[in-house]
Amino acid sequence: MLNQSLTNPSGFLQFFFDSLSALVVRRWRGGVKLRDHKQLSSGKAIRRCPTPAIPLAIPLEQGRSRALPCVKPGERVLKGQVIGIGDGRNLWVHASTSGIVQSIGPAAVADRNTPAESVFIAADGKDEWIERQSLAAPRTVTELARYAMRMGLAGLGGAGFPTGLKLAGAERTDFLLINGAECEPFLTCDDALMRERADTIIQAADFLAALLGAGRTLIGVEGNKPEAIAALKSAIARAGSDVRVKRIPERYPAGGQPMLVRALCGRRLRPGQLPGNVGVQVLNVASLHALGRAVFAGEPLISRIVTLTGSCSHPGNVEVPIGLPVTQLAGIAGAVSQDIHVGGPMMGRALDAPEAVVSKTTSCLIYGAATWLPRPEPAGDCIRCNRCVDVCPMALQPMSLYTAAREKQMKTLKMMNLDACIECGACSLSCPARLPLRDSFRESKRELRQ
Ligand code: SF4
Ligand code: SF4
Repeated sequence: MLNQSLTNPSGFLQFFFDSLSALVVRRWRGGVKLRDHKQLSSGKAIRRCPTPAIPLAIPLEQGRSRALPCVKPGERVLKGQVIGIGDGRNLWVHASTSGIVQSIGPAAVADRNTPAESVFIAADGKDEWIERQSLAAPRTVTELARYAMRMGLAGLGGAGFPTGLKLAGAERTDFLLINGAECEPFLTCDDALMRERADTIIQAADFLAALLGAGRTLIGVEGNKPEAIAALKSAIARAGSDVRVKRIPERYPAGGQPMLVRALCGRRLRPGQLPGNVGVQVLNVASLHALGRAVFAGEPLISRIVTLTGSCSHPGNVEVPIGLPVTQLAGIAGAVSQDIHVGGPMMGRALDAPEAVVSKTTSCLIYGAATWLPRPEPAGDCIRCNRCVDVCPMALQPMSLYTAAREKQMKTLKMMNLDACIECGACSLSCPARLPLRDSFRESKRELRQ
C-alpha cells in the first residue's frame, strides 16, 4: 500500500509520509554533537588548482578496484584519456591532465595504507582535453552502470566504492536518497559543491531517479548548511523537479547510511543488508555530481574538491586533479606545517608519506594536526557509565563488545551483532576511560571476516 503511494503518491499520503519522516528525523538515534570547525574553510568560493606543470602519479588502484595500464612510457596523453582499463568490477582510469607518460610503478597515496600502482605523467602545462561527448540517453540502469565504470566514477563520500557496481546491484528502487550530510568536523567540500553546483546535482538526481524508477528522491542535509539548502531549493524550483530537501540533525555520524535510510525513508537495514535490499539507492552528493558531469558533459572522474584547513593562511575548497602530490597544495593553502591529517578527524588518518598524491577519496587536509587534533591519552578502566551505549547510532553495546573483543570471544561478538558496527567512533570519543573501542571493533571485524 505504502509502496504504491510512493510511485504515485496522493496528496494525503504524501503529507502523512512527510509528517512521519519529520518525526523520525527528530528521533534520530545516538550520535554526538562535535565542535565542527567548519567556519575555517566554509563560505569561500571553490578555487581551481592551477594547471599542473609537475609530474602527477595517477593511481590505477582505488579500494579493491584495479585497472590494467594501457599506456607506455614516452607516450603523450590528453586530459581525460583512458590510461587504465577496467571491467565489470574494476574502474577505468583516466589522465587528469595532458603530458608525457614517464613510468608505471608504485606511488604513495594520501588516504591509503599501502602504495598503489600508478601511471606517472610529466604534465606539459597545457591541460589539453580529449574530445568530450555527453552520453546518449541510456535505456537501462545496466547501461548506465557500465558507463559509470568506464568513466571511473567512485563514491566520493568515503570508501570510494565504484558507482557502477552500486547501480548494477539496484533491485526495485522506491527511494533515491542523496547523502548531503557532511558530519565530520573540518570538512566543507560537499557543502561548497551544493552551494555552487546545485543545478548539476538536481539535474543528475532527476535523470537517475527516472532511470531507476524511483518514486521519491530525497536529499538529506544538516541544518548547519543553510546556503546549501537554499541553493538546492532554488535549483529544484528552476528545474521544476520534485526532489525534496530534508534537514537532518547536526550530529555525528548523521551521514551514516543505516541512519539516513531509517530516518528519511523509514526502512531498517538488518546486519549485512545494503540499502538496495530495502528499495533504497543511496549516493553521496559529490558522487551524484560526478555522475552528472560524466553523463551531461562526457567528463570522466579526474578531479575532486578537497578541503584545505587547519593552520594555514588561505583555507578553503580547491578542485584538485587526481594524482597531484599533496605538497603542491601547501602553497595554495598557505601552510607551512608538515604535520598533516588526511580526511576528517573521526575517520581519517595522519599523512605518513609527504610525497603522497591526492586520490578520489582524499576529502580534506588538516594542517597542524597536533594543534587541532590532540593525541589520545592513555586508557583507564571502564567505569560502566553507559555513555558509549547512549551514543551508538546502531543501538549496540560497545562496552560488552569491547570485553568480548579483548577476550577474542568470536561467537559472542557475532551474537552481539558486531557486524552492524559502522566504525563511526562515537563510542570511543564519548568514553571517559578513553578505551580504544572503535579500533578494537575494527580489528575484530577483520578477524571475523578472515
Ligand atoms: S563505532 Fe560501532 S559501536 Fe561504536 S558508536 Fe559507532 S557503531 Fe556504535
Ligand atoms: S563509555 Fe567507556 S567507561 Fe563508559 S561504559 Fe562505555 S566503555 Fe565503559
